[in-house]
Amino acid sequence: MASKITAPRGTQDLIPPHSARWQELEAKIHALARRFGYAEVRTPLFEATELFVRGVGETTDIVEKEMYTFTDKGGRSMTLRPEWTAPVVRAALEHQMLARGPQRLYYVGPIFRYERPQKGRYRQSHQFGVECTGYRGAEADAEVISLGWELIRAYGIEGVSLRINSIGDASCRPRYRQALLEHFRPNIAQLSEEAQRRIERNPLRLLDSKEERDLRFVASAPHFEDFLCEECREHFASLRANLDLLEIPYSIDWRIVRGLDYYTRTVFEVSSNVLGAQSTLCGGGRYDDLIASLGGPNMPAVGFALGIERFLMVVEASRGSAAAPRAGIQAIALGAQARATLLPIVGELRRATEIPAFMDYEERKLLAHLKIADRNGARFALIVGSEELASGQAVLRDLEGRTDRRLPLLSPKDVADALVEATGGSL
Ligand code: ATP
Ligand code: MG
Repeated sequence: MASKITAPRGTQDLIPPHSARWQELEAKIHALARRFGYAEVRTPLFEATELFVRGVGETTDIVEKEMYTFTDKGGRSMTLRPEWTAPVVRAALEHQMLARGPQRLYYVGPIFRYERPQKGRYRQSHQFGVECTGYRGAEADAEVISLGWELIRAYGIEGVSLRINSIGDASCRPRYRQALLEHFRPNIAQLSEEAQRRIERNPLRLLDSKEERDLRFVASAPHFEDFLCEECREHFASLRANLDLLEIPYSIDWRIVRGLDYYTRTVFEVSSNVLGAQSTLCGGGRYDDLIASLGGPNMPAVGFALGIERFLMVVEASRGSAAAPRAGIQAIALGAQARATLLPIVGELRRATEIPAFMDYEERKLLAHLKIADRNGARFALIVGSEELASGQAVLRDLEGRTDRRLPLLSPKDVADALVEATGGSL
């Protein structure tokens, strides 16, 4: 026997009934983005590797070790999209969108990162994110945060917290960097290998170390708050005031630095207390220098990315994986003539109503048909056998309430109308 081929490690198939949860979330995302005035962008699954090296940063986990990079047949280095911000900015520049004024853009789709797979961490995962370009003020930071927060609120998820921080800009970050270097250097031998490697290139990254040996030194590290320049300090105060105006609860976490190099000033994370080690649902911030570093104008921007898989894990944990409510009508025909009667009725239901209509075409006993109706999660069964044909009355059975009623077998349109009437049409 041929050996079975399975999905690649770290990837997941999305299959029913779980795919309905995704559809529901995606529908909510599109509706929410629309309410905030954000328009969708879709970019290619792969891009020139250079885009991510420049746009994400050489000292990041993504570029250092997580990219799926390959050489195409023309000898060009290509990389499967590991994050969306650089591609979205690339597309906005390529289509001269930024010259037309501030842009509000969002995306939903897969990212690829070569990671060690575990719960909440995959090699192909999916993100929803937004990018708002053209505003220097902290109102825009608060706007993107509130957009993400609304999604959480729409699901009524509890145990979720927003933490914010400022990581300054090009004028004050060098001083903080220096202070961190001075703090960590004397203890360098006691730090984790990862920290030792990072310390000269990107000492800020030590603050988000998860290594036990680093924590003691991180705890006593200086805080950026004490090094922010006047403008960055004002921006942070304005962000806080705007979050208060929008009644979004937050706390300040001076350890948030975010993995990517391009952030300036505002950084934030939303995490959940039900996720364990992979607790961050959403991360983002302001990146006033990215657009220029990708060859565009000197233009500020702010955004976030939310992990769809992790978000749905939290949703499931908070509302349980209760069976979906029953929906739709199973058309049950007993005999060839009954099938010929029901087929056009099913056709009419599918054409003219929102009611899901199921039909099985095999010759079976009523009980077997009802089992299939259960498997389909149908709320009603419309049953036609020889008796019903003779009397000109179908049986409409409520599979939840276990009650029967009779429905005259008139034209398909009349029957469909009667079914909408009988079921409330809201199945
Ligand atoms: P982490 O510290 O967990 O690796 P990150 O800083 O790499 O996160 P971002 O690049 O900010 O994550 O991506 C935003 C969100 O996308 C994350 O908070 C998470 O919800 C999700 N995400 C990122 N990488 C993965 C992955 N490999 N598998 C599943 N979800 C992911
Ligand atoms: Mg990561």
